[in-house]
Amino acid sequence: MNSQTSETIAALATPPGEGGVAVVRVSGPLAPEILGKMFQGSFVGANLVFARNGIHDGRTDPDGHRQGSPLQDFDSHRLYYGKILSPSGALLDQGLAVWMKAPRSFTGEEVVELHLHGGPLIARKVLEAIFELGARPAKAGEFTERAFLNGKMDLTQAEAVADMIAAKSERALRLAQSQWQGELSAPVGRLRASLLDLLVNLEAAVDFPEEDIEIIDRDGAGKLLQDSIRQIEAWISDYETGRLIREGLSVVLLGKPNVGKSSLLNRLAKEEAAIVHSEPGTTRDAIERAFQLGGLTLKVVDTAGIREARGEVERVGIERSKRWFEKADLVLALFDSSAPFTEEDRQVAGLASTKRAFFILNKADLPPAWDPSPLLSFYIKDGMGQVLSLSAKTGAGIQDLEEALPSFFGLNALEKSDHLLLNQLRHKKALQDARASLERAQEGLRKRLSPDLIAAELMAGSHHLGEIIGELNTDQILEEIFSRFCIGK
Ligand code: GDP
Repeated sequence: MNSQTSETIAALATPPGEGGVAVVRVSGPLAPEILGKMFQGSFVGANLVFARNGIHDGRTDPDGHRQGSPLQDFDSHRLYYGKILSPSGALLDQGLAVWMKAPRSFTGEEVVELHLHGGPLIARKVLEAIFELGARPAKAGEFTERAFLNGKMDLTQAEAVADMIAAKSERALRLAQSQWQGELSAPVGRLRASLLDLLVNLEAAVDFPEEDIEIIDRDGAGKLLQDSIRQIEAWISDYETGRLIREGLSVVLLGKPNVGKSSLLNRLAKEEAAIVHSEPGTTRDAIERAFQLGGLTLKVVDTAGIREARGEVERVGIERSKRWFEKADLVLALFDSSAPFTEEDRQVAGLASTKRAFFILNKADLPPAWDPSPLLSFYIKDGMGQVLSLSAKTGAGIQDLEEALPSFFGLNALEKSDHLLLNQLRHKKALQDARASLERAQEGLRKRLSPDLIAAELMAGSHHLGEIIGELNTDQILEEIFSRFCIGK
């Protein structure tokens, strides 16, 4: 344990504000003592009332504070009901307390949780009492950071904790959960172990250069490197999919006025609980609406209002909508199947053809005015687009859109396979670095360079793989990861 973890930290673990229950979490060596000083109670279920003034031994220190060797009647991992008192003995609340003795706790340290009535003032007063007894406020993510530092989980698992909390769609949650269970770190760890094996052999060759025998099996080593590079490449190519699942898809809606863009948005948003929010930095021009479709989060930018704006605002708006368009993962291009195809439609189709796009023939409840097939097949490049017919008005065809979405992005197949879904930019960078090192090692092997050069590259490659799991962490990586958490986690 480092010095940082010897401090006792505390924070509200539940969201701030009023609620049924507020949980205050304390972690660190002082936690049991703080519990002893603040809690007077009985075992829930057995209604066992503690003798001797609850769990206190009744002694007081010079300040009049009660002191404890408090916990002899308090079992670990058991919930007790009782009074929560300030250091001076004032009643703060009645609630539940649990002590999770180290190392069998989330952080691996002594952990105490107090379950209070869910009022912000109660929680604040209880926290103040805890701070008075020697704990300090926890920083964002500090509980999880300690769990990592104490070997309770590796880095990918710690990241998964943050992702599980932030998950907005079914798929994002599933992905985070599988990462949390170590499904990302285990294969990366195995690959790293096989590289380290090879490294050991190379080191032998370095140490005994005078032995004129081939200590390293060049063919075997070459094959191992080749397979490793291939594996890493497969993981890198999964990154994009992982990111889509985790962050959701940025979607841009295109179509001439009155084609049904707002109707479609409302329809989609009505099917699922709509969250309306604007993207940071954009105030009035690009309103983003996020909702779930096909188990994914869609962040749809409705650019409809932009065209109607005038002057400077319009110019800025158009600039921004161009940027939105460039970074979009999917374009929904809308056409009115009940009215003739116009020059404006042609422009929309042309724009959509440069991205992955769904060409949506709206107003399918009305008689069609044109045959879309020849035209749209002209605009759709291999695997880049799909034609769907629907009615934003009646809802017919919406389900097809919902089903088309995950299969268009190959998610169904991917989730069933044993592919890793790497989803953090950090993972991708580490994999790219690892690949570069292994490629140099491969070249060294091919050119029969000295084994210590090859060994150095192998070492670097396994170092980069280790970065993913966090076996070789740097303070910077840690800070970056744990600052993403909320306080209390
Ligand atoms: P926007 O300008 O592209 O946002 O289009 P709106 O969503 O405002 O729709 C324009 C008009 O088309 C409205 O009167 C809608 O009721 C109508 N509309 C939209 N979708 C459909 C549809 O699927 N079928 C029919 N019959 N009318 C539709």
